[in-house]
Amino acid sequence: MIADPVCSSMQPATIAQALAAANRLIDPVDARLLLEYVLHVYHVYLLTHPEHQLTEQQAANFSQLIQERAKGLPVAYLTGERPFYDLTFHVTNAVLIPRPETELLVEWALQLIPADRPERILDLGTGSGAIAITLAKHRPRSYVVAVDLSPDAITVARQNAKTLNVTNLEFVTGNWFDELSREKFDLIVSNPPYVAEHDPHLQQGDLRFEPEIALSAGNDGLACIDHIIAAAPGYLAANGWLLLEHGYDQAEACRRLLQQADFNNICSKPDLAGIMRVSGGQLNFSVLSLCSVPGATMKDA
Ligand code: GLN
Repeated sequence: MIADPVCSSMQPATIAQALAAANRLIDPVDARLLLEYVLHVYHVYLLTHPEHQLTEQQAANFSQLIQERAKGLPVAYLTGERPFYDLTFHVTNAVLIPRPETELLVEWALQLIPADRPERILDLGTGSGAIAITLAKHRPRSYVVAVDLSPDAITVARQNAKTLNVTNLEFVTGNWFDELSREKFDLIVSNPPYVAEHDPHLQQGDLRFEPEIALSAGNDGLACIDHIIAAAPGYLAANGWLLLEHGYDQAEACRRLLQQADFNNICSKPDLAGIMRVSGGQLNFSVLSLCSVPGATMKDA
């Protein structure tokens, strides 16, 4: 029998005792998030009610989650949710866990989509639908098509759209552009798999539990980025933009590929850690740079 980290005696713990026990085994922030999840309370409740007694069932549930987290399972898969931008998304191990750096892609996309025009947006490799649903929610006059190869991911994304009450979008199961008609989009966005196949990070942390198909790609991680950039011009309207998230060391390669595909106004923008994380370009348009984020780099087309 496994020693129970929360109830060592017959007496279930208080919030303070449960957290102290958990903190010996897992990161304190993770312990807090898991206890909030078990008790259905906000952080402030844990802070203001340290003497609150867990029920036996709650203590058992918390113990179970701590043990799973100690084995490495991501918090988001244990709680089944992850906040992204201003929404909370349901996640399962069929989808990548939304990351804060991807919010940069959403911010840039929102700068490019006028709120008062019915733009058409394509999200490639939508996963949980985090990017597509956030864009659709913030631009209700626009219409988003979200594609993923994995039917299980599409099921999660559809569920998120339903829960978040977003209807100006549709989901397509397919490989990148393969299932699309030749309709044109004003904006294409993607957070494709871009980690190199033998990158040791794939064997570390949360990445060990995430779907490899959403994480890694051949050609040093650039295979999908290369494919998307080469094919995107066939699906972009005049003056349309393509924005891609990429790895910490792929900005230059990404800009080079955009240049080869005749994009203009090519630039990269940094994430909050100062790492160039999203690159993009515009088709058939070459006036002044539209980069407006401080620290953005501009490459002449
Ligand atoms: N940003 C993720 C990571 O390196 C990878 C996501 C992706 O491949 N799109 O942890």
